[in-house]
Amino acid sequence: MKKLLSFLVILGLCAGAAGITACSGGKTQPRLSYEIYASYDGAGALTGTAELTFVNDTGNEISDLKFNLYGNAYRQDAKFKPVSKTYESRAYYAGASYGGMEIQNVENCAGWTVGGEDENVLTVNLASPVYPDGSVSVKIGYTLSLAKINHRTGVTANTVNLGNFYPILCAYSREGFIECPYYSCGDPFVSDCADYRVTFDVPESYTIAASGQLTGESVAEGRKKSEYELLNARDFAAVLSERFQTVEKEACGKKITYYYTADSGAETSAAAAAESLEYFSETFGEYAYPTLSVVQTGFCYGGMEYPGLTMIASGQTVQDSAYTIVHETAHQWWYAMVGSNQLTSPWQDEGLAEYSTAAFFENHPVYGYTRTGIVGAATRSYRAFFTVYSQLNGEADTTMTRNLGTYQSELEYNNITYNKGLLLFDTLRKSLGDKKFFACLKSYFEDNCGRIASPESLIAAFAAEGDVEGLFSSFIDGKILI
Ligand SMILES: [Zn+2]
Repeated sequence: MKKLLSFLVILGLCAGAAGITACSGGKTQPRLSYEIYASYDGAGALTGTAELTFVNDTGNEISDLKFNLYGNAYRQDAKFKPVSKTYESRAYYAGASYGGMEIQNVENCAGWTVGGEDENVLTVNLASPVYPDGSVSVKIGYTLSLAKINHRTGVTANTVNLGNFYPILCAYSREGFIECPYYSCGDPFVSDCADYRVTFDVPESYTIAASGQLTGESVAEGRKKSEYELLNARDFAAVLSERFQTVEKEACGKKITYYYTADSGAETSAAAAAESLEYFSETFGEYAYPTLSVVQTGFCYGGMEYPGLTMIASGQTVQDSAYTIVHETAHQWWYAMVGSNQLTSPWQDEGLAEYSTAAFFENHPVYGYTRTGIVGAATRSYRAFFTVYSQLNGEADTTMTRNLGTYQSELEYNNITYNKGLLLFDTLRKSLGDKKFFACLKSYFEDNCGRIASPESLIAAFAAEGDVEGLFSSFIDGKILI
C-alpha cells in the first residue's frame, strides 16, 4: 500500500509535464544529424570524424556550410583565449599548455577553408547548392589535441573534459551562420538542435560520462567502443576518467548518474540533481532526454552545461556544489531545451537558470539556501559592482543585451547576466504574482523548446499576463537603479 502511494505521488509530481511531448521546436523530421566517431589515445590526442547531414530548413539556398571549431581556441597563438588572466592560474594547473583542432579532410564538397576571426570557423563549399527542404551530408576528418587545462576541452588531473570536441555547424539566423569567437567571459556557443549518434573509442580503463543514452558497447584488445544516441539536442559532450565512482538516481522516469572522483557529499550531490530535475519538470515542462550525467571534474569556474550532461567543478563545499548542480540542471531547460543567443543576450539563460535555482531552494530548504538569501546576495553583489565600475569608468554599462566581447571582466559579466538577470525575474514575479509568473515561464518553455528564443519572445510570454514591457526595458536598457 505504501509503495503504491509513493508511486502515485511520484506520478503526480511529474504529471504536470505529461501532456507535453519532448520538444520538437515546431520542426518536422528529418532534422540535422551528426554521426561522430572519436578515438582518444589516453594521452591528450583525439582523432575523429564528424558526418553532418544538413537538412535545409533555412528557407534560403545554401552554398556553403560553416562550422565553429571551438577546440582551436586552446592553441598557443589564439587571439581569443579561453580564459582571462584572472582565471589563468586556476585553469592551467600544470603551467602553460596548449592544444588545438585541426581539420584533416572534408568529404563530399568542392573545397574547404579554415578562417573566421581567429581560425575558429571551417567553411565547407558544397559541390552544389542545397535548396530549401533539400539535404546534403559532409564528413569531416579532424584531430583535437588537448591542453592540460581545467576547462571545457582539456585534460585535468583526474579527468578528460570533452566539451566542444567536434566541429559543430554554426546556428543559422536571418543574417546567416553565426560565427562564435571564443570569448573568455560567458559561454560563446550558439547551435541548432540535431540528432546525435556518437561512438567513443577509448582505452578500456576509462569510464565515459556522456550526454546521450548508451546504445552499444564492445571491448577488444584493451580498447572500449561505446555508442551513444541523443535526439533533438543542440550539442553533445563527454567526460572520461579512470577514477570515476557513481551514484545513480531516477526522477520522472529519467536516469540520473552522478560521476565523481572525490566527494564526501556524493549522495547530497546526486539528490540535488534528481530533486531539481523533478522540480523543474513539474514547474516548466518535461525533460526531453532519457538521461542526465552530472560530472564532478577539473574546471576553473563553478560548472558548465551541455545537453544531458553538466560539468561540476571539483573542490567545492558540499553546499556550493549542490548550488552549482541545481544551476546547471536548470540550464537543461534554459539553454539546452529552450535555446537563446548566448553571444548577444546571455542574461536570458543565465538569469533564468539563476532564478530557477532560487525557486528550487525556496521549495527545498534542506539545502540551507533561501530565496531571500539568494536575492539579497545578488543585490549586494550587483551594487558593489555598480559602485566600483562607476568610480573606475565614470559610469557603469548596465545594459543587458550586448555582445560577450563588450564585457571587461568576469565581475561585470557575472553581475549583469547572473545577478541582474536574477533580480529582473524576481521583480517580475513580485509584479505578476506567483501563479501568473510561473504560468508564463511554462508557456515560454512550451512555445520555444527546441528553438533559439529571442529576448522578444521571452518578453512576449510575460506580456501575455501583464503590463511588463516597461519593467523589462528598464532592466535591459540599464535605466533601473537597484
Ligand atoms: Zn549558468
